[in-house]
Amino acid sequence: MNTPLGITQLEQFDAQDSLVAKRDAFVLPPNTIYLDGNSLGAMPKVAATRAQDVLATQWSQDLIKSWNSHSWIDLPGTVGEKIARLIGAAPGQVISCDSTSVNLFKVLSSAMLLQQGRKIVVSQAGNFPTDLYMVEGLSSLLGQQNCQLQLVDNNELESALTEHVAVLMLTQVDFRSGRLLDMQRLTQLAHEKGILVIWDLAHSAGALPIELDACNVDFAVGCGYKYLNGGPGAPAFLYVAKRHQADVVQPLSGWMGHKTPFSFDNKYDKAPGIEQYLTGTPAILSMSVLDAALDVFSDVDMSTLRQKSLALSDSFHKLVKQHDALAELTLLTPLSAAERGSQLAYQHPKAYALCQALIKRGVIADFRAPDILRLGFTPLYLRFRDIWHAVEILADIVQSGEYLKAEYAVKHKVT
Ligand SMILES: *Cc1c(COP(=O)(O)O)cnc(C)c1O
Repeated sequence: MNTPLGITQLEQFDAQDSLVAKRDAFVLPPNTIYLDGNSLGAMPKVAATRAQDVLATQWSQDLIKSWNSHSWIDLPGTVGEKIARLIGAAPGQVISCDSTSVNLFKVLSSAMLLQQGRKIVVSQAGNFPTDLYMVEGLSSLLGQQNCQLQLVDNNELESALTEHVAVLMLTQVDFRSGRLLDMQRLTQLAHEKGILVIWDLAHSAGALPIELDACNVDFAVGCGYKYLNGGPGAPAFLYVAKRHQADVVQPLSGWMGHKTPFSFDNKYDKAPGIEQYLTGTPAILSMSVLDAALDVFSDVDMSTLRQKSLALSDSFHKLVKQHDALAELTLLTPLSAAERGSQLAYQHPKAYALCQALIKRGVIADFRAPDILRLGFTPLYLRFRDIWHAVEILADIVQSGEYLKAEYAVKHKVT
């Protein structure tokens, strides 16, 4: 048995942490340990400055001229390129727009249309519901004979990849368990059978290094408000590999995806590049905030970030194991670094109440039905000493039975 992990050692980790100064880039409420940046990232200070500027100068004073003078019209591409750097995509393949769900519908439709004669979409059982619902929606539009969802368990993924499959649609980091899939291997296995691959990066973009180009990925989508800190309901993004851009079509063919939107043609003629995935007018207020928030990443090395993320979650789990009272928590997340995202998920019969009691004590985590306590580790603003205090509070709540109070069983609309 290794020597137990103590607060002194965690403070030493903080002293050696090259990302420690990044915490100053965020506004964080006092007496709060935020372990939910995987659901809604904390607010970067530059986000507030930009929001103020867009309202007080751009919109109110410069009015419609701002589309040109403040480059509003280019914002989806500008934001897309900032995200591209974080996900291993060369320029011209990423754009910011709409929600993850809508973007998934667009790229899924494109992929199915490229795969004439194949109808099966393979995905993980337990994938985030919206991803599965979007396939259902497309199935009802195209008919089951043209689009059919097949759900498989993680350990059956590879054997499900046959010549009948059109599309493999996977979320890189599972939203419940935090399991990280091997993008390189699964993409390659799929391609060997002529299958196109869509990756959902909702729980990985901004949390770990991603190499979409190097892995030869076909399509990807992801979220702006989780690890990218773009604010509640921030616009999402999508990636379409350059090699597909001439051949693809997407069904939400709005005017912003037209080759020349301001020629106001009667006939749709798609833009040649990634802009063809735009639909309507971009949400400038929220996209501006996301644009500013992404600058926090401009000097961040993603492998350094990943090392800290793994060290944070390692420390958390080690501390949990040091408390006898926490033996009733069952870790669902794989412990091997190759299979772990930036969160830990523990099963407990009263996970909801535990989560509510933690929140009451200033440790913000979340609950995922039916019995998961989920803790996200965001290396840009979490300190190792925060991990110590979070586990101390968790142990105290369990030991004292505080979480059994009736008030913590009251279910809120958002968990
Ligand atoms: C958070 C999340 C989404 C969110 O979709 P929205 O349309 O942005 O609400 C989608 N997929 C996965 C896997 C997620 O984790």
